[in-house]
Amino acid sequence: MDDRIEKARRLLAERQEVVIFSHRNPDGDAVGSSLGLQHYLVDRGHSCTIVLPSDYPEFLTFLPGIQSIVIYDNEPERAQEIIDRATLFFILDFNAFDRIDRLADGLADDERPRIMIDHHLYPEEIADPIFSDPSASSTCEMVYRFIDDLGDRCRVSKTVSDSLYTGILTDTGGFKYSTSPALLRTAANLLEAGTDAYKIADHVWNNQSEKQLRLLGHCLANRMELIPEYRTGLIYLNKKDYEDFDIQRGDTEGIVNYVLRMPQLMIAAFIHEQPTIVKLSLRSKGTMDVQQIAKAHFRGGGHRNAAGGASFAPLGATINRFKRQLPKYAAEIEAAYLEFNNQ
Ligand code: 5GP
Ligand code: MN
Repeated sequence: MDDRIEKARRLLAERQEVVIFSHRNPDGDAVGSSLGLQHYLVDRGHSCTIVLPSDYPEFLTFLPGIQSIVIYDNEPERAQEIIDRATLFFILDFNAFDRIDRLADGLADDERPRIMIDHHLYPEEIADPIFSDPSASSTCEMVYRFIDDLGDRCRVSKTVSDSLYTGILTDTGGFKYSTSPALLRTAANLLEAGTDAYKIADHVWNNQSEKQLRLLGHCLANRMELIPEYRTGLIYLNKKDYEDFDIQRGDTEGIVNYVLRMPQLMIAAFIHEQPTIVKLSLRSKGTMDVQQIAKAHFRGGGHRNAAGGASFAPLGATINRFKRQLPKYAAEIEAAYLEFNNQ
């Protein structure tokens, strides 16, 4: 068996005070993988707390145990006390300390063991062992594999499977992206463990408020710009939109994907003005790699088809900066388009 699993097995052979970290603005995969692993570790007799830099989206509140997550933004002292007591850390769904902001303070020189399970590109050496698989659909898929490799498939209870299935569903857009035979087998195992796929899908997809649907209408009608020569579409939101629509965390989730519903487009950008920075969400189809664009021009990263970054320039300047990069990628965009449509 893999040395890394043996190392994890040894660490988990003794009772540990575990802290699970996941990334800022946690999504279904970050929260689902954390809760799935937490329920499993508690079942094995460990003590385990999830600490996240910022709050989780409302639609995930149906997940059992989510209320016990400690949010550093809301309770920094309590989070720090829990971290101080920890004997083992898990790093889930991120692979560089800058994704957890202040929570990373002091961790680089901290001697306590850290285990990373993550599916983003280019993991930094911030844990040992590191389970990194950018071909995996989600960290939830990898947590299932981790538990299975430890020989504990039978410990995947309904609470564990509900959490993991949720993250798989959100990170694959409902089994649209990064699916594989192995993933569908894993999904089948999760349903056999008691997960009700229809109920989870309802929680995940039918959770929009009237405000969110009206905001989507505004984005599509008034804030969408197409750049057909580079097969790119963008949607932007300014600070006034944030006030007018009372936009809260999570309200803009998924809007970027609408652009890619146009078959001739290969790249979608969602560029939105935050109080101090402008954030970009990038999406692409097929072999078109938006991770490199996020990394090269917007201090970001992510995956080939879903990446993000930020800019300290004003909104208009950021939009122009994004558009100015597109000619550099023209050949790649065209090649990806041809490849995508010849399959
Ligand atoms: P989203 O566009 O949904 O915020 O993020 C999509 C993906 O891009 C995430 O899974 C994450 O991996 C990556 N991502 C988003 N924002 C950033 C960022 O500021 N830095 C890095 N390194 N990755 C990001
Ligand atoms: Mn993920």
